[in-house]
Order: sequence, then structure tokens, then C-alpha cells
Amino acid sequence: MASAAPRPCSHPGCGVLVYDGSGRCPKHPRKTWAKRPAAPKRITGRALQRLRAELFAREPLCRACNAKALVTLATQRDHIIPLEEGGADTDDNIQPLCSACHDAKSKAERARGVRRHWDAYREG
Ligand SMILES: [Zn+2]
Ligand SMILES: [Zn+2]
Repeated sequence: MASAAPRPCSHPGCGVLVYDGSGRCPKHPRKTWAKRPAAPKRITGRALQRLRAELFAREPLCRACNAKALVTLATQRDHIIPLEEGGADTDDNIQPLCSACHDAKSKAERARGVRRHWDAYREG
């Protein structure tokens, strides 16, 4: 006799009764998806100030606006592929953006991040 009362598997739509107290049936073991590989360390402080100055000296205008034939002064040093998605903190992954374009891009990246989490949850 198990000491704990059986509980349904907590996987969405499963509901198989679990007797070992883990909360998950053998088909749906708990995922360790909280453990994600750490993103490379962000450059901060004085080093970042210098990199920004170099970038804006080289390319002072927002690249996204420029693509739409708009002329906007860049204020953000943006990672084209975000560090969280495997991008590198190197010049070829850096572009100058104005704060409006940077905001829009960050929002899209956050939305993608949320969807990735949700997919991982549903696959689990
Ligand atoms: Zn299950
Ligand atoms: Zn822009």
C-alpha cells in the first residue's frame, strides 16, 4: 500500500492516477526545463560605453529606420540575434537602433521567449 493518496498526473489532459507521490505518470516525467544553458555574459559599464561610442561613430543612424528610408539617430546598441537566443556579443551581431525600433524588437523577442516556454511545457 502506498502511503500517499493517488493523484492525477499534472500533465495537461493526461489525468492518469499517480501513486508514487511524484505528481507525474511514467509517460510524463517532470521536466527540468528551469535549467537552461546560461547566456553569454553581457558587456556592461565602461566597456559597454566605449563599444556604444564606437558603434555610433561608425553607424550613427538606426538601421531598421534606414531600411524604411527613415533617418533616425540611433541610441541603442542592439544584438541582432539576442544573447538569449544564442547570439554572440561581437560586432557582426550588433546593430544601431533608435529606441522605438529597439523597443519593438525587444517586445517581439519577449513574445517568442514566452512561446518557447509554452511549447516546452506542452511537449512535456
Ligand atoms: Zn501523464
Ligand atoms: Zn528606428
